[in-house]
Amino acid sequence: MKRKIALVGIGKIALDQHVPALAASGHWVLAATVSRAGRVDGVPAYTDFAQMLAQNPDIGTVSLCMPPVPRYDYAHAALMAGRHVMLEKPPGASLAEVYALADLARAKGLSLYATWHSRMALAVAPAKAWLADTTITRAHITWREDVRKWHPGQDWVFAPGGMGVFDPGINALSILTEILPQPVHLRAATLEFPENCATPIAAQLTFSGHVSADFDWRQTGPQTWDIAVETPKGRLDLRMGGNVLEIDGIPQAGENSIMGEYPALYARMADLVQKAQSDVDLAPMIHVADAMTLGQRKGVDAFYL
Ligand code: NAP
Repeated sequence: MKRKIALVGIGKIALDQHVPALAASGHWVLAATVSRAGRVDGVPAYTDFAQMLAQNPDIGTVSLCMPPVPRYDYAHAALMAGRHVMLEKPPGASLAEVYALADLARAKGLSLYATWHSRMALAVAPAKAWLADTTITRAHITWREDVRKWHPGQDWVFAPGGMGVFDPGINALSILTEILPQPVHLRAATLEFPENCATPIAAQLTFSGHVSADFDWRQTGPQTWDIAVETPKGRLDLRMGGNVLEIDGIPQAGENSIMGEYPALYARMADLVQKAQSDVDLAPMIHVADAMTLGQRKGVDAFYL
């Protein structure tokens, strides 16, 4: 039997991915939305979250799709009201607030899922399996995209808590922390802040274990979401944001899951609720927080979306 779920924050990612994934899901039925302006045809729409929770005791799960800064208050209210909670990435605006949510979920016996959609990309599990029994001699992430193309008008990405280029960069870090057989930690970073922005538009990161990353949000033309990993048994390349796997330059095929990233996230959430478990891995966000702590700040030209 399908469980009822409410979607909160009906904007770009909710409409691009969450709504289609839920429509096709065998686990969930979208029973309500909460958003100040956004709505989904045929689904009861609320603008007040407390009212939706109070009037729908049969909706046991909420999925929060708004930007990270406002998300904590909604997650806290949902858990206090006895609802399971699914968080878009990054799971919050700070580490401490997500730890607090995890503690609250545990105390209430509810499921909290801090999702990392890029971990569900087609080639991530095969890459993890290939790397599991080897040593990493070097790894480099190149994550360069055009913020104006992917975040038109979304000023929150350059406001405090918006994370700037780490909003996409944390997707790469979610893959890195999933596939490496041993954890790494950040040792140094350079962060490029436009003079009119509170968050960086580019970052270069150096980790332990000869791992490095280059994030840039000013790349027009072809977009790059690659992770290259060198090992004694050969070179692994993840391309297209974790969706294409190459070993020594040869594309690999045949081992991929057929499920897309968001359908896989909702299947995982159904499993967590069924088993009364949570999944809150903050490793990708710890690297971002460490970059903000250790990073050398460099001023660059003003930037406007
Ligand atoms: P968005 O379109 O700018 O925001 C989503 C919706 O959240 C807005 O339409 C707005 O709906 C609501 N919202 C915005 N500010 C709010 C506030 N202060 N309080 C309450 N609600 C607020 O952002 P998005 O691109 O969908 O991204 C949302 C999250 O998904 C981010 O964490 C992002 O990293 C993640 N994500 C985005 C993408 C992408 O391609 N854009 C991909 C994967 C993950 P109302 O105005 O109707 O309330």
